[in-house]
Amino acid sequence: MYYCRNCRKEFEFAKIYFEKQGEKENAFEKFLLCPFCDSTDFFEQKGCYCRYCGIRLKVKGSEYCSHSCRKQGERLFEKELRQKESRKASSLFNAIKEVDDYNKRTNCSLSYGQYFALKGVGRI
Ligand SMILES: [Zn+2]
Ligand SMILES: [Zn+2]
Repeated sequence: MYYCRNCRKEFEFAKIYFEKQGEKENAFEKFLLCPFCDSTDFFEQKGCYCRYCGIRLKVKGSEYCSHSCRKQGERLFEKELRQKESRKASSLFNAIKEVDDYNKRTNCSLSYGQYFALKGVGRI
């Protein structure tokens, strides 16, 4: 999708225009023009696809094609976030458990910080 800065229209395909260069045979220069106003002042727009269903979006700057896609997309995003957080929480949980187990096993009462400091220098 292209957006023309000159006429502010959007279009799918630029107009291809060949201009003859000099007198030589087959010496053409290729230009891409806005199909509405023949301007070359346009640029390709990126990221204009629905984040949920991938359909091409008509509205500039939006992330989803519809309310339902937005809902679904955000739900998916939240779910990923929650999964990430629960993974983080479970690794913390495992670390605490490791310290507890160590303390029980060795009859020590190392704190979390002490344990990982010792482990870090290879003493555990
Ligand atoms: Zn234009
Ligand atoms: Zn969509």
